[in-house]
Amino acid sequence: MSKVLIVEDELSIAELEKDYLELSSFEVEIETDGSKGMDRALHEEFDMVILDIMLPGTDGFEICKQIREKKDIPILMVSAKKEDIDKIRGLGLGADDYITKPFSPSELVARVKAHLGRYHRLIANNVQENDIIEIRGLKIDRTARRVYIDGEEKAFTTKEFDLLTFLASHPNRVFTKEELFNKIWDMESLGDIATVTVHIKKIREKIEVNTAKPQYVETIWGVGYRFKM
Ligand code: CA
Repeated sequence: MSKVLIVEDELSIAELEKDYLELSSFEVEIETDGSKGMDRALHEEFDMVILDIMLPGTDGFEICKQIREKKDIPILMVSAKKEDIDKIRGLGLGADDYITKPFSPSELVARVKAHLGRYHRLIANNVQENDIIEIRGLKIDRTARRVYIDGEEKAFTTKEFDLLTFLASHPNRVFTKEELFNKIWDMESLGDIATVTVHIKKIREKIEVNTAKPQYVETIWGVGYRFKM
């Protein structure tokens, strides 16, 4: 559920905004003091801020500037004066949108939905771009299927890559050779659990400084292997 912070000193307006946003399933909190509102926006986890301009403590312009320096959550500014809108534009504060009072609550909800939708799509895309496991000097890029040690790329076969990635995705968990063989190789594959041993050896030659004392893929004697976090 998306969490929205309303910084607004006119409680009747803030509560109206809150009611409408809650009807659209947003979680909403109100702060009536500018300085406290800024503090909460900077230090708590909100997905969006609706920001009045004339506020006791710190004004909306300053709050907007401070949030934008630290976070890229959407900021919707609210003002009673048209001159303020010009000022928001002119100062380049990084507000995503603005709305003038009086406004219809459904207009506000529509804008909040639009900005949050765009923001969450942006986050989702970033996550996809950075599907990377990074542990000490080892970096596994799952999207590009590449492995690097201290920035240097190492050539991996498909099964070596799948095996290493599977182990690294379940750190500190011990898997038997049978479990690994069943996970990584098809039922039809020729071979047996010795295949796993051979692949582990090849992986270690590529990623370990000293294959006799592996720092990533450990042998648990009599059981199998685990990826050390
Ligand atoms: Ca105000």
